[in-house]
Amino acid sequence: MDLRNNNLARLGSEDFDALVIGSGINGSVSAAALAARGLKVALIDARDFAGFTSQHSSNLVWGGIKYMEGYEFGLVAGLCNSRNELLESFPSTVKEIRFLMTINRQFRFHPLIILASTWLYWLLGRAKTRIPHLLSLRRIKQLEPLINTDISTAGIEYSDAFLHDNDARFVFNFVRCAMDKGCVAANYVASHGAARDTGGQWVTQAEDQVSGSRFEIRSKVLINAAGAFVDGHNRLTGIETEHHHLLSKGIHLLVPQISQNHRVLAFFADDERLFFAIPMANRTCIGTTDTQVEDPLVEVSDDDREFVLSNINARLDLPTPLTADDIIAERCGVRPLAIRKTETTIDVQQVSRKHVTEMDSAQMHISIFGGKLTDCINVGEEICDCVARLGLQLEPPRGKWYGEPGRRERAAYDARVQALGLDQIAAADTGEILSERLWRRYGADANQMLDAIEKDPGLCQPLIENTGIRRCEIDYIARHEMIVTLEDYLRRRSKIELLVSRSMLRQSAGLFEACEKLFGSEAKKRFDEYFNLSAKSDSDISQRSGSE
Ligand SMILES: Cc1cc2nc3c(=O)[nH]c(=O)nc-3n(C[C@H](O)[C@H](O)[C@H](O)COP(=O)(O)OP(=O)(O)OC[C@H]3O[C@@H](n4cnc5c(N)ncnc54)[C@H](O)[C@@H]3O)c2cc1C
Repeated sequence: MDLRNNNLARLGSEDFDALVIGSGINGSVSAAALAARGLKVALIDARDFAGFTSQHSSNLVWGGIKYMEGYEFGLVAGLCNSRNELLESFPSTVKEIRFLMTINRQFRFHPLIILASTWLYWLLGRAKTRIPHLLSLRRIKQLEPLINTDISTAGIEYSDAFLHDNDARFVFNFVRCAMDKGCVAANYVASHGAARDTGGQWVTQAEDQVSGSRFEIRSKVLINAAGAFVDGHNRLTGIETEHHHLLSKGIHLLVPQISQNHRVLAFFADDERLFFAIPMANRTCIGTTDTQVEDPLVEVSDDDREFVLSNINARLDLPTPLTADDIIAERCGVRPLAIRKTETTIDVQQVSRKHVTEMDSAQMHISIFGGKLTDCINVGEEICDCVARLGLQLEPPRGKWYGEPGRRERAAYDARVQALGLDQIAAADTGEILSERLWRRYGADANQMLDAIEKDPGLCQPLIENTGIRRCEIDYIARHEMIVTLEDYLRRRSKIELLVSRSMLRQSAGLFEACEKLFGSEAKKRFDEYFNLSAKSDSDISQRSGSE
């Protein structure tokens, strides 16, 4: 907690060029991009980093093939471009993956039209991924015997990308990147609104959600990246905008791995929307839904669960159909969708998924509406342009402000890994090579873990059974990743909570040891807090293990 306490003290005592409210993907990339251009940036979130919508996505980095039906070719080309940039810049995290899309009989489009669309999609993506193919029913069965071809007419195989770890980890790495460039960030700090003082500086009323203490944060520019709460925060600060948000709820269910083949299975659900079964380590993540809601605080309903289970069961030939008893974990979030206040569209499925930045030059204020994880680089660049237009002096760009460290750093890391014999060490539980895991999750900071292993080779051993996590990681996480609650660690810095049932986790000796490293004398309190507050009782969830 030293890092967080130190940052809290700085937030209340220093002046900033920009304060970013909200550290979902939009706020985190804004902070990282601005800090890289030499500005003094502060970043706060009322919850944990990525503790709201950005932890509930489908984990896809994609051009949004389904938006082509609404002729949004500009949006799709932009997203494909972003996807390509992310594939190139984060080669260990953002991975190309094949999608096998099965087309039902009586679907509204002929398979050849869909094939033509996937070709156009591929071309809009500048042909940077593997080429799409039309698949006969026989070929579908050969590739994936699980698919129920009795109700299908043909299939298409095409490529997009996904996040190897998870969305929240991806977001956190932008927060870390921002902090490395001098940004002062803290989780669990809420803004209760802001006003400009007589000198024109923004004074934001902040509250530390852990201690309850209140303080003010002073900044020249205020950036509202509060996602589903952007409109509410603008009301608090008296900012008028042309856009506002419509909210659409989407859920996913995590079930035991349904196929050993590493590809996304795509179907058209009963509501004719694209619907996916996505690999997540040794689990499958199935979803999603798209339902308009008024309140951003949403939960999975029985109807949502039934919709997902009945659709997947109808489209697969599973030995036994999936039931609620197979659910290991659930994800449920709201998409903040940008729409003009003058627009009367109320069908969320028709609303464009583009992002909009609105700048109020007189008030030195920026609001970010909508967006996608995939769009993050564009948002970061756009916020830099806006802040420059507001009159702040940004340093000229020095290379990319995002991405994994360059080839030279990687080569030096690989040489150390080889010298330590770590290139041969695969986790017994996950089969993953330790050095790959460390680089993917911690970038150049993985070197700190190599230092620790050099002194004590026992730190290569697993810490929490069946999750892939090694002993060398936990000290680093405790010092650098601002873990306040056990859920921060299990759900967002890692995805253990999505893969391992709570009853298995509770029995893990390694988990309590991790708590001791993370929380010191408060270990038992945090451990008990997590399991007592569990939304699901252990009897709801059958005992399973999993790996990250
Ligand atoms: C079901 C689903 C599937 C999706 N799938 C994909 C996908 O596969 N690929 C993709 O690219 N995109 C996907 N998306 C879209 C993407 O997840 C969202 O667009 C994105 O995460 C929104 O990020 P954000 O930063 O705007 O909002 P958030 O992540 O919600 O961040 C806003 C933050 O602001 C904080 N905040 C709010 N009010 C305050 C306050 N007063 N003070 C301090 N902090 C505050 C909140 O706590 C929150 O953490 C999906 C979305 C959903 C719901």
